[in-house]
Amino acid sequence: MTEIIHINDNNYNLSIKKCADIIKGGGTVVFPTETVYGLGADAFNPEACSKIFKAKNRPADNPLIVHISNMKMLDRVAYIDDELKEKMKDIWPSPITLLLKKKNTVPDIVSAGLDTVCIRFPDNRIALDLIEASGPIAAPSANISTKPSIVDSGTAIKELNGRVDAIIDAGRVKYGVESTILDCTQTPYRLLRAGAFTVDDIEYMIGDVYIDPLVKGYTQSKVALTPGLKYRHYAPSKKLFLIENEDKFRDFISSGNVQDFFILSSDQNCSLANGECINLGKDIYEVAHNLFYDFRLLDASDKKYGVIQSFPENGIGLAVMNRIRKASFLIVKGKENIDKLNEAINETR
Ligand code: AMP
Ligand code: MG
Repeated sequence: MTEIIHINDNNYNLSIKKCADIIKGGGTVVFPTETVYGLGADAFNPEACSKIFKAKNRPADNPLIVHISNMKMLDRVAYIDDELKEKMKDIWPSPITLLLKKKNTVPDIVSAGLDTVCIRFPDNRIALDLIEASGPIAAPSANISTKPSIVDSGTAIKELNGRVDAIIDAGRVKYGVESTILDCTQTPYRLLRAGAFTVDDIEYMIGDVYIDPLVKGYTQSKVALTPGLKYRHYAPSKKLFLIENEDKFRDFISSGNVQDFFILSSDQNCSLANGECINLGKDIYEVAHNLFYDFRLLDASDKKYGVIQSFPENGIGLAVMNRIRKASFLIVKGKENIDKLNEAINETR
């Protein structure tokens, strides 16, 4: 049985206590963060953490992130050098996750047997109050593995009812893409996953960062930067076509060929669409906020395919394009794959 916790100002403290008790008792709770919904359990309880993998169908070699709500908790779970710790005191809470050497307190199931652990200090009141009351929470994104991350409680309830002990119903999240992951076990630090915290902010507040081209999301590499990245991710069930050239995208969505495609595009381009178009937003933050939500609208639509445009890769745009590329069935770039797009068009005629 899953308890749906409709949290509000009147029942706030009671709701947090109820959820913290579930975590402390070895159960699982779906909770909001500022990035996406997480599916959490007591980070020190291996049996509780195993329920996360089961609920999500998550492969056991994909480690979890340990969520903390104060710097003392950090010392319980990981090693960090003093200089970085001082910086993080000013930066956290925020959507940046650090990969650090783990302490023995962290069970193997959380780190998938690695000697490192990802640490996150989320910038969301409910998440922080919950962690403060329960202790460190291990959590990945709440979605069933391979599906788009969950950015609203309606989807969390649809997808996870019956699979977890409680779901906190707290509406839409702030950012809509996951946290940035920075590997701090080597210098220069390495960007493992682009996310809501921008590279500009890392360089300004933390220091130099190495960005592997894989971060853009083009290939499903066997030598993944982080275990999670070797799996297909974020994808709608319908086949999504990404057209990276803006003129080609515009030509296609304004043509008669687009009938069986569900169009996902910016505010501006939607006005050109010759068919149903989901407006992802007027700036890149709105696009990030809507992306995963709108992937699910694509799946719920009666169209056979989706088509999406590309966005500039600065700021949070780097994370947005990483997610779009990983979600795409096919990337049309220059002449590459244009024949495959035509095949799909012909098939729908
Ligand atoms: P999720 O929050 O669902 O995206 O999952 C957590 C992400 O953190 C996955 O991409 C993991 O591969 C990554 N992660 C967690 N722990 C580690 C670790 N020790 N080393 C590398 N990546 C990690
Ligand atoms: Mg995930």
